[in-house]
Amino acid sequence: MQEIETAKGIKIYARAKINLSLDVVGKRSDGYHELRMIMQQVDLYDEVDIRKTKSGILLKTDCDFVPNDERNIAYQAAQLMMKRYRMDGGVEIHIKKNIPVAAGLAGGSADAAAVLQGMNQLWKLEIPQQELMQIGLQLGADVPFCILGGAALAEGIGEKLTPIKGIDQWVLLCKPNIGVSTQEVYRNLDWETIQDHPDTQQLLKAIEDENIYEVAGGLCNVLETVTMRMHPLVKDIKAKMMEYNALGSLMSGSGPTVFGLYKDYTKAKNAYLKLRRIYQQTYLVKTYSGGDRGDE
Ligand code: ATP
Repeated sequence: MQEIETAKGIKIYARAKINLSLDVVGKRSDGYHELRMIMQQVDLYDEVDIRKTKSGILLKTDCDFVPNDERNIAYQAAQLMMKRYRMDGGVEIHIKKNIPVAAGLAGGSADAAAVLQGMNQLWKLEIPQQELMQIGLQLGADVPFCILGGAALAEGIGEKLTPIKGIDQWVLLCKPNIGVSTQEVYRNLDWETIQDHPDTQQLLKAIEDENIYEVAGGLCNVLETVTMRMHPLVKDIKAKMMEYNALGSLMSGSGPTVFGLYKDYTKAKNAYLKLRRIYQQTYLVKTYSGGDRGDE
């Protein structure tokens, strides 16, 4: 987590994630899919400002179509904290959305994680990270990872996390102007008939060996074909990324954002300029490994 104490409270940088892999390895009796995925944070973040107030929860965002009430996962995070720890007073939360919404980049989950961490810090509750991650899991499968940060292997429904060192690359993100419902993608997935599963072990080894070519070759997301069937544009963007010299390209999460990995900044910048002409929500960022980078 990276935060700044401000005069009035705390500012948290809530970072987006990409999936270097996403596998569905089973379905539990309660209907949840058992996942295995390699998650990597990137340096694209929402700015979450949190401060104490006398009472209640007040949430504001700078985005018209993100709700400001109980439907906002960051609001739910504040509710959970206040109830569970019987907190005094209230909280005001301002979110500057830079992460595209309903994109497969865990924007909402990152905001919720920021609220849990920020309130913990501001009220000096000293809740251990593990406990905060358990609370986060009640809000969404990606929230525990957003609390952990950096890069990790996530298993179970997202709660079993093994930190890894991750990759250090340029990442080109491109989101077409369509929103994808995660629930709908999972509903359309028949996991028993999935043809191509990622080789997670091999991918982990390639990451450990810093063999970016093997990492790029091993990118795989079992939800990709499902979303591509619903939105063929996703396939076109992936093809364009490869045409524009990405080492590898993949849809993140349930989509529709597609990312491309680049070692070479000039190639990445050229690809960015070309895609940006067509898709407004195109970003060129670096992977983020956690801790202070000293350049912000
Ligand atoms: P994930 O990868 O965790 O599924 P996502 O990137 O696909 O996340 P989000 O950006 O989290 O999707 O948004 C999904 C839905 O949640 C949107 O329809 C949005 O209205 C709602 N939502 C609730 N809270 C937030 C928030 N803080 N930021 C963005 N969207 C939110």
